[in-house]
Amino acid sequence: MGRIILTGDRPTGKLHLGHYVGSLRNRVVLQNEGNYDRMFVFIADVQALTDNAANPEKVRQNIIEVALDYLSCGLDPSKVTIFIQSMIPELHEMTQFFSNLVTVARLQRNPTVKTEIRMRGFQDENGQEAAFGSGVPVGFFTYPISQAADICAFKATTVPVGEDQEPMLEQCREIVRSFNSTYGEVLVEPDILLPSNLACRRLPGTDGKAKMSKSLGNCIYLSDDPKEVERKVKSMFTDPGHLKVEDPGKIEGNTVFSYLDAFVEEGDFERFLPEYPNLDALKDHYRRGGLGDMKCKKFLLAVLQDRLEPIRERRHTFEQDIPGVYDILRKGSEAAREVAAKTLHEMKAAMRINYFEDEALIASQSKKYNG
Ligand code: ATP
Ligand code: MG
Repeated sequence: MGRIILTGDRPTGKLHLGHYVGSLRNRVVLQNEGNYDRMFVFIADVQALTDNAANPEKVRQNIIEVALDYLSCGLDPSKVTIFIQSMIPELHEMTQFFSNLVTVARLQRNPTVKTEIRMRGFQDENGQEAAFGSGVPVGFFTYPISQAADICAFKATTVPVGEDQEPMLEQCREIVRSFNSTYGEVLVEPDILLPSNLACRRLPGTDGKAKMSKSLGNCIYLSDDPKEVERKVKSMFTDPGHLKVEDPGKIEGNTVFSYLDAFVEEGDFERFLPEYPNLDALKDHYRRGGLGDMKCKKFLLAVLQDRLEPIRERRHTFEQDIPGVYDILRKGSEAAREVAAKTLHEMKAAMRINYFEDEALIASQSKKYNG
């Protein structure tokens, strides 16, 4: 069986360093290895609307931002089909069929959705609706089902994402098993592809919170200018107990070191901090005491600027041709729709929802009534 890669992002803002290390950087590697049959990357506008229903303009404005971020990171439309979720209506038909295979209790157990419900203020920690009229939208509650449709429509085998997506992948696999055993083998069980570097699976926010997330306002964006990146790195959360340079410091939970773990590459010390041979030596010094936060931050800043500079440059080029970017999205959406339509057709045939094509059905019923 071939290898098909699919992954996407919600157009709720520009993409940030968490997206980059959690998924985007890996997508570009996978694309360039060419070790797959087809690769799809999509902008999940329908999913973004599940918690932004009153703000469609935000979603609409961010589609181009996400597309520009993709292209500037090196996704190449000649190798990857880039599309917009809402342009594939087949996905919604699939979602409807899948929703019959999932129980309410199963959805309620999803830990990522639980956390997100609290983060978005839909409910408090006791599961009570935060205020009258501001409970959990049904569409938001069921988005793992719609996400399963996104994956299944393209018979994806491999989904490169951050670890917050693990429960979604598990839900998808259950849906595939349930569909195939109920109606026949049509769908493919996907595997999650997490970053091999543990520090990349969930990059914390600059404020030290568990996850860098557009919705939490603790992000360094791929398109931030150098000054902005500097400001954010300099005010980053470190070890609150490390007050003076000579104090021993903690690495665990220290955001600067989490970022260094995620970003430092071969040769970075030689180029930007030659007095240390590697990250372990820097960490040892910090733990012992005698190493200031500012020095570590300056090193991190140099590393980040080095990674971000080529991305920014490519972005400026693509920004000059916005109609061209929309053209890429339109062509990608058309190509993706063909694939999704084929899968939906197979699904409906397996579900016996193919009345007009089923001559045997028509003939047997005709015989029943007319001898
Ligand atoms: P929102 O707050 O609107 O949900 P988000 O910042 O969580 O936005 P998504 O579009 O939900 O971003 O996530 C897109 C992809 O990026 C997913 O694969 C997700 O696992 C990954 N990702 C997002 N944030 C991080 C992070 N901080 N660390 C690692 N991966 C991340
Ligand atoms: Mg998210």
